Amino acid sequence: MMSDCIFCKIAAGEIPSTKVYEDDIVLAFKDLEPQAPTHVLLIPKAHIASAAEITPENSALVAHIFEVAAKLAKELRLDNGFRVVNNCGEDGMQSVQHLHFHMLGGKKMGWPPYPAN
Ligand code: AMP
Ligand code: ZN
Repeated sequence: MMSDCIFCKIAAGEIPSTKVYEDDIVLAFKDLEPQAPTHVLLIPKAHIASAAEITPENSALVAHIFEVAAKLAKELRLDNGFRVVNNCGEDGMQSVQHLHFHMLGGKKMGWPPYPAN
C-alpha cells in the first residue's frame, strides 16, 4: 500500500466509500462526483500508478476488472450499454495516481469525449 494514495486508503477501508463490489483483487465504489446517472470506479486493491504501468506480470488484474465490469453492468441494469474510461497521465487528465477505470452509464454518451483542440 502507498501511504499517501487515496485509493489505497479506500481499498484498505481507511477512507469511506460507497462500495458496489469487492473481492480479494478489485474494489468498485461510487465516484464522489458522478458524471452520469451511474458512475462507478473500479480499482485493483494493489497499487498500480496508471495504465502506463500495466505489464505481463500484473495484466491479469485488468482482465479481472473487466469481468467485474460486465457483471456489474447486469446488476446495475445498464442493459442499454455503458462506457469504461481510463484517464492516464497528464494529457489523459488522470487526477488520482492509482489505476482506476470509470464505468459510466444510464445515459447516452457523447463522442468524442474531449474538445478537438
Ligand atoms: P481521474 O480524473 O480519472 O483520475 O479520476 C479520479 C476520480 O476519482 C474522479 O472522478 C473523482 O471524482 C474521484 N474521486 C476522488 N476522490 C474520491 C473519493 N474519495 N471517493 C470516490 N471518488 C473519488
Ligand atoms: Zn494506491
